[in-house]
Amino acid sequence: MPGPGYYWIGAEEEKEVLDVIRSRRLNRYGTVDDPEFQAKVVTLEKEVCTRFDVPFSLAVTSGTSALIVALNALRIGPGDEVIVPGYTYIASMSAVIFAGAVPVLAEIDESLNLDPADVEARITPRTKAIMVVHMLGNPARLDQLLDIARRHKLLVIEDTAQAFGGQYKGKHLGTFGDVGTYSFNIFKTINAGDGGLLVMKDEELFKTAFAYHDQGHLPLRMGLEVGKRSVIGMNFRMNELTGAVLIAQLRKLDALLGDLRRIKTRLKNALSQVPGVGFRDIVDEKGECSSLLVMLLPDAAIAKNVAAELGSKTISESGWHVYNNMEQILAKRQLTVGPPFQSKEFPTTVEYTQGMLPKTDAILTRAINLSIGVVDAGLGSGYGLHPKATNEEIDQVAETVTRALKKYL
Ligand SMILES: *Cc1c(COP(=O)(O)O)cnc(C)c1O
Repeated sequence: MPGPGYYWIGAEEEKEVLDVIRSRRLNRYGTVDDPEFQAKVVTLEKEVCTRFDVPFSLAVTSGTSALIVALNALRIGPGDEVIVPGYTYIASMSAVIFAGAVPVLAEIDESLNLDPADVEARITPRTKAIMVVHMLGNPARLDQLLDIARRHKLLVIEDTAQAFGGQYKGKHLGTFGDVGTYSFNIFKTINAGDGGLLVMKDEELFKTAFAYHDQGHLPLRMGLEVGKRSVIGMNFRMNELTGAVLIAQLRKLDALLGDLRRIKTRLKNALSQVPGVGFRDIVDEKGECSSLLVMLLPDAAIAKNVAAELGSKTISESGWHVYNNMEQILAKRQLTVGPPFQSKEFPTTVEYTQGMLPKTDAILTRAINLSIGVVDAGLGSGYGLHPKATNEEIDQVAETVTRALKKYL
């Protein structure tokens, strides 16, 4: 089962896509004097800029390609280290590896996001950037992390794949760092099957990112005319069909987040009555996306039993997002020959071993994800609610979870 955007797909998405199909203009580029051209991708980029109050945005094919474009545009590569949390989706690490740099794993804290003190302890002369991930919709500790980055002159990439529309102190997540990236795959807040987007404030950086995403067009390619390809780039262009779906989804974002927050608040209030139950630290209660409710229980045994009672798993056992369960990272199994792990020029001593982040391990063995808007067994959220849940359904789930908690607490 997918993320919340799926539940909102309807007539609006249909109309936007039909516009494009009927125009037969499926590519993001068109000419201004072509009345048929729908300009959906450009419209999406503009609407994100307005909504998030950020000068530049660039649509791409996925959250992973957004990260790859970001890292390359920031000129992060061989010889560089990027600090990444040990609890994140694998793309946060693999994008760094494909940029030729080395991901350095850092601990999380009870926000389930980067532990600022541990980040600072892992800075070396090679550290070039911090990849701040806003996991499961919760803003990371941005004040501390941005302060560390400023003091050590590090770049900041905000991997906001799981927190599109989330805010920190009234400002949109993704707009704090040098670059923010988003994903629109089926598990994310809004989705078009696949898709991604970058936001940034610096114009030169935008031009570089744009060039990298489309075969090196620098200066910008605006229409169908053949532009200058002055550098070497790749192709991560979003097409008009994807742009069309995302415009419709974007316009529903506030309603969608409002529903998630209503559901989570009701469930959390009910579960808070149970003595001994705890929750992860929410860094900004108003800005959090509420796609999941994370319970933090007193110890691993209790959490394991409660999860089993619900037919679910603790986060530590849920696979996908936990470094301990990423066999390809632990084994440094790389398809390409070259940096970072085989590099003679930049030999690295960075290792990845199970149990290397004891604080992260301890937190995740006590943590259970309850679904609010994201139903994904890979996150451990095999149990919970869906984003259209009624109050009766919420109360029912609250009752079942309460019973499971009381049995073991
Ligand atoms: C989903 C996700 C990505 C990758 O997005 P795709 O669109 O699947 O490529 C990157 N980082 C995080 C934290 C994610 O959750």
